[in-house]
Amino acid sequence: MEVINTIAALKMLLKPRKLAQQKIALVPTMGALHKGHVSLIKIAQQNADVVVCSIFVNPTQFTDPKDLEKYPRPLQHDIEMLQEAGCDYVFMPAVTEMYPTKENWHIDLGDAEFLLEGEFRRGHYQGVTQIVKKLFDAVEPELAFFGQKDFQQVLMIRHMVAYFKLPIQIVSCPIIREDDGLAMSSRNIHLSSEDRKNALVLSEALKYVQERFEEFTVEDLLKGAETIINEAEGVELDYFTIANGETLLPENNKETPNLVALVAAKVGQTRLIDNMILN
Ligand code: AMP
Repeated sequence: MEVINTIAALKMLLKPRKLAQQKIALVPTMGALHKGHVSLIKIAQQNADVVVCSIFVNPTQFTDPKDLEKYPRPLQHDIEMLQEAGCDYVFMPAVTEMYPTKENWHIDLGDAEFLLEGEFRRGHYQGVTQIVKKLFDAVEPELAFFGQKDFQQVLMIRHMVAYFKLPIQIVSCPIIREDDGLAMSSRNIHLSSEDRKNALVLSEALKYVQERFEEFTVEDLLKGAETIINEAEGVELDYFTIANGETLLPENNKETPNLVALVAAKVGQTRLIDNMILN
């Protein structure tokens, strides 16, 4: 596995692979890797000849400077994990490599940009799509792998790809969970042991909805899920919604295809998100 820091070096290394018609896959991450990230690498390996994983904590997608400052960066551990997973190239650029000058990126990502995470983190998806476009330009992959864990992010990236008409296939991969159901996240490291227990209500509420989906109305499902979360200690709910997976607008009709339950809450000082697809 090679670790690369510049776009020029990365392009040089990938050039012969492309000339040999090898399929290149990209897995963008912000590091602090866990089994969820490794699952993306494994799925990428099954679908491509060469897997590039990027590690870059992208400043333009953070809406809270404290969140950026305290984002975990265990680089040595990350490199070892990727080596073990059999990743081919790790791209770890400096901020100045990705942003040599200040750029006021703004593209039309559609109305869903301003819903859910977009409402709580204004401008977040402009920053996300900005860095992903830069990574796509650097790697020029045929395929790129993202986690369903960040459901709205996958949707926004699909919009960005359509906007620029990029020849890149976006693949959404299943959420990897701890044994007790908590969705793996780089942010879980910030949870105290008390928070860690309380955080379970997120996946429990989603499961409650998924298991009763055929039986209950959307209104009753939402009431039940919100009660589960609101009764938990130290958990402050931002939203729990059953939405159309394309528009992210709330949906009452259970016959609508592509319904998804999405939740975000602050557990102690840590904001967590999770979701489950319902039909
Ligand atoms: P991040 O480093 O948090 O930006 O995540 C990098 C990629 O890993 C994103 O596409 C995430 O959606 C994905 N990811 C994060 N957590 C999980 C998880 N628990 N299961 C599967 N994919 C995940």
